[in-house]
Amino acid sequence: MWALLLLVSLAAVSAEPRNFHGEKVFRVIPQNAEHVELIKSMAQTEGLDFWLPDSAQLVEQGKRADFHADGHVSYEVQALLQQSGMPYEILINDLQDALEKQRDSNIRAVHSYEKYNDLDTINAWSANIAAQNPGLVSRSSIGTSYQGRPIYLLKVGKSGANKKAVFIDCGFHAREWISPAFCQWFVKEAVSAYGVESEFTSLLDNLDIYVLPVLNVDGYVYTWTTNRMWRKTRSANPNSTCIGTDPNRNFNAGWCTAGASTRACDETYCGSAPESEPETKALANFIRANIPAIKGYLTIHSYSQMLLFPYSYSYAVAKDHNELNAVAQGAVNSLTSLYKTKYTYGPGGSTIYLAAGGSDDWAYDAGVKFSYTFELRDTGRYGFALPESQIKPTCEETMLAVKYIASYIKNNAK
Ligand SMILES: [Zn+2]
Repeated sequence: MWALLLLVSLAAVSAEPRNFHGEKVFRVIPQNAEHVELIKSMAQTEGLDFWLPDSAQLVEQGKRADFHADGHVSYEVQALLQQSGMPYEILINDLQDALEKQRDSNIRAVHSYEKYNDLDTINAWSANIAAQNPGLVSRSSIGTSYQGRPIYLLKVGKSGANKKAVFIDCGFHAREWISPAFCQWFVKEAVSAYGVESEFTSLLDNLDIYVLPVLNVDGYVYTWTTNRMWRKTRSANPNSTCIGTDPNRNFNAGWCTAGASTRACDETYCGSAPESEPETKALANFIRANIPAIKGYLTIHSYSQMLLFPYSYSYAVAKDHNELNAVAQGAVNSLTSLYKTKYTYGPGGSTIYLAAGGSDDWAYDAGVKFSYTFELRDTGRYGFALPESQIKPTCEETMLAVKYIASYIKNNAK
């Protein structure tokens, strides 16, 4: 009887997504080593959820850090910050409230490019857009996730012999909802511009552009059903009750050496081995199978408004640094021209922090020269709770940068 009651109450709990009422998002700028230590120790004792950087271990003196604190510790965290004299501000006073305001589009259609769409809706959309544009878009699956969901890939471009290719993926980190929104937007733009707009038509005549709308499908579903702030995959970890691996620490590029954690409970857990996750393995297998056609690899994350290129696993300068930097500069200038959105660009390690095992470094070392990570809007006003009303401007400006890089590859990549 008790077991039954427990089961019933567990079912009742798991049916409702987690509520973030009264939970705050703080921004701090540690001024000295003591401040850094305080943040790290609070992260341990209070279970802080780091938004930027990706974990407390990466917090540095003089660099801002954003984190979300549970309701019952928010006041204690605030008191400790006040006592320490560390500059801080409250970015979000009530995360639940911010998440409810995030859905501000009022669009009633099931699928919309200006809404956040759940996985079923995105999958139905990708099937439909391929069916509607048979000469331009085709859909395949590159594999299945840990929980058995297909990982769909769209190939966009006119068929032709010996075409160069660019690979774009979205939805690595489950809670970065603006990322899958961008991949959908890109395909929409391609389909509507083909044969109408000369630059995009030329791109699609000369390049195959692979678009993977959601890589971490299990995690993405989990952010819709259970916990909006989930980041990792949903795989079980042996000898741990903690779930999931950070897919962007799971590639064989300086794997688990810096800026990644060996602890399964951490948000930057590198996994039990490189490509331990079926999702990252499927992606790596596809890219390996399609080298040397793939000349560009663009992976879309949020937030912080940055365009990064190798390396992130070390401070080593990439052999193509000058060209990668010049292309990044051109892409950022193009992006900024539309809404004056400020972007930072440069090698990941020196621009933000060391983070080993990322897909951009792996792709670069595998032979994909033009390998970039986008960190889309914003810089923390909303963070992962970016309102739907910002999807359109975010995607419009990002399109300019992506088209700049794709055009460069079309004209210059060997
Ligand atoms: Zn991310």
